[in-house]
Amino acid sequence: MFGKWSSTTKTCNHGSKIHIAHTKLSGSLSSDELNRAGDAVAKSREMLINAVSLTGGAWNAKMNAAAASCFLTGPGGPSQKQKEEICRVLTMTKTGACGSTTIKVGSSADANGYVNVHQDMMHKLFMSHKVKSLKDGATQYIGRAHVDREYITNDSAENRKRAILTFIHEATHRYAGTVDYDDQGYISATTYLAGNGIRFRETGLDTAQALTNADSYAVFAMEIGA
Ligand SMILES: [Zn+2]
Repeated sequence: MFGKWSSTTKTCNHGSKIHIAHTKLSGSLSSDELNRAGDAVAKSREMLINAVSLTGGAWNAKMNAAAASCFLTGPGGPSQKQKEEICRVLTMTKTGACGSTTIKVGSSADANGYVNVHQDMMHKLFMSHKVKSLKDGATQYIGRAHVDREYITNDSAENRKRAILTFIHEATHRYAGTVDYDDQGYISATTYLAGNGIRFRETGLDTAQALTNADSYAVFAMEIGA
């Protein structure tokens, strides 16, 4: 493994082991912090499992409303084809996240979270998940989910939710090939977690884009799967 990261492995619920990696530069995580990082993945798995189960069944009013906000689908609910696409993306994400997965607890300078798109052979072979982009179908090699260290080390109810939202967001990139659309695609976590609704930082996204948008899936999974 690379010198820059250390890693610890925990056995958690809903699937295989969770690997928790942290930068040596930022210092080790305490056992409480390791537990919280593992918890963020375990809770993400629970929400994804619930969301997949729900979207594969009969949709209720709460799901229709969440989809209208996250995916900009009609007030009566998504079309059958849109429902199938939402369920398909969530299923790919759930399957990946419930496998042997890693949460990389980065530095507090990170912007919420990120994944790397790998080009070199070693990263492609050993570190990445091969996935087709939902934007153009191109094959991509996506690295592991990085989550802002602040969300793990500075414990609060809000930061626990931010860690989950970020992990699911990054997992949709890695396992389902979702896309970012800058502020048109990012949902305000501050507004959402304060209970003040689901709204994009900027307007302009259309429904077709929303159905490929990472943050739409993260917030939708939390909204219906929590
Ligand atoms: Zn993203």
